Amino acid sequence: MNQVQRFVGFVYQEVRLQCHQGQPQTIEISIRAHGGIRGRCSRCQRPAPGYDRLPERRWLFVPLWGIATYFYYAPRRVNCAEHGVVVEHIPWSDGKRPVTYAMMGFLARWARKLSWRETARTFQTSWEAVYRSVEWFVEWGLAHRQLHGVAAIGVDEIHWGRGLRADNFLTVIYQIDAHCRRLLWVGRRRSQVTLRRGLKTLGPEVVKGLRFVCSDMWKPYLQVIAAQAGQALHVLDRFHITTHLNQAVDQVRRQENMRLRSKNKKAALRLKHMRWPLLRRGSRVRGRARQKLNALLASKVATARAWELKETFAHFWKYRSVSWAGAFLDYWCHRAMRSRLEPMKKVAKMLRVHEPLILNWFRAKGEISNGAVEGLNNKIRVVTRRSYGFRTYKAMEMALYHNLGRLPEPESTHRF
Ligand SMILES: [Zn+2]
Repeated sequence: MNQVQRFVGFVYQEVRLQCHQGQPQTIEISIRAHGGIRGRCSRCQRPAPGYDRLPERRWLFVPLWGIATYFYYAPRRVNCAEHGVVVEHIPWSDGKRPVTYAMMGFLARWARKLSWRETARTFQTSWEAVYRSVEWFVEWGLAHRQLHGVAAIGVDEIHWGRGLRADNFLTVIYQIDAHCRRLLWVGRRRSQVTLRRGLKTLGPEVVKGLRFVCSDMWKPYLQVIAAQAGQALHVLDRFHITTHLNQAVDQVRRQENMRLRSKNKKAALRLKHMRWPLLRRGSRVRGRARQKLNALLASKVATARAWELKETFAHFWKYRSVSWAGAFLDYWCHRAMRSRLEPMKKVAKMLRVHEPLILNWFRAKGEISNGAVEGLNNKIRVVTRRSYGFRTYKAMEMALYHNLGRLPEPESTHRF
């Protein structure tokens, strides 16, 4: 019985092993109140005189030796001077749920390693019980986390599920300080309202203390950030700009592919299977893909010109001085505007509009890590795609906080 916690005021009375056809099915641990210690009011936790006793209930405890284990106890009602006749405080459970705190912590920890469905199956419980456990764990963690010292945040939109409806997007707020990277907030949609709700949850102290905000060029975010965190240096980060460039190259490739296929089969073949080599950083394309890429570049197709523009832009990030970077940006945009490639022209226009925020990257140099937002986004994708068997949006939100929030954990939970 060393694995079982001790609770002040309660004693273990009896342990029964229930078997079915010689196989152990459940372990039942009955508990009784210590005779000399009064029950406590469940609302104020002060000792109070006993009133009566409710029927026996059971709570699921952590499996012992792989066997499902239950606590059995008949709770007392006490007569509290302040709260009247109430059910006594029960230290292993919040009273409402049929699962002990220890088991909820146990399930919640496993739910980070396995999918929720697997967790439920492995420990012979329901998906619902796993969900409730994670929810309890996350709510405790959110209520107890520390938010001071958050200097840099990244704001981003994440697509999930199928389709492009407003509900298929999430807004996420990350802390991207070097000493702590975590998910701070997640909310449905990607509107101004969403982001305002997120910043409100973090609280005015956190928002006023921000020194850096990193985001995409998504207009609703830009407006909210300018209005609420005007003191912070707002940086459009490299990862997002690279994404826009890559999308433009891909658009050029697709358009050209369609054009060529209708008249010139052989030329179209050059573009086949070139999506990834084109999107990868040029210096990283090797071997056969490199040969195909070289041939494509020599052919002077539109895709080759778009690719060349994208690659040239990589130099931008190597500058140290803001003014030289600005000069390069002007030069690049000028070239892109003359390229006769609509998607590239669109990127150039966008970069021009946001030039000051893009150049902030060089003003913040060294203080903002360039892969932080991208890294956290990738982790989010792992969670949303892994077959957790989310049945609701809320469940997914819980899983995101649970896996990426670095939340503090309740102390009393059972560790192995
Ligand atoms: Zn009370």
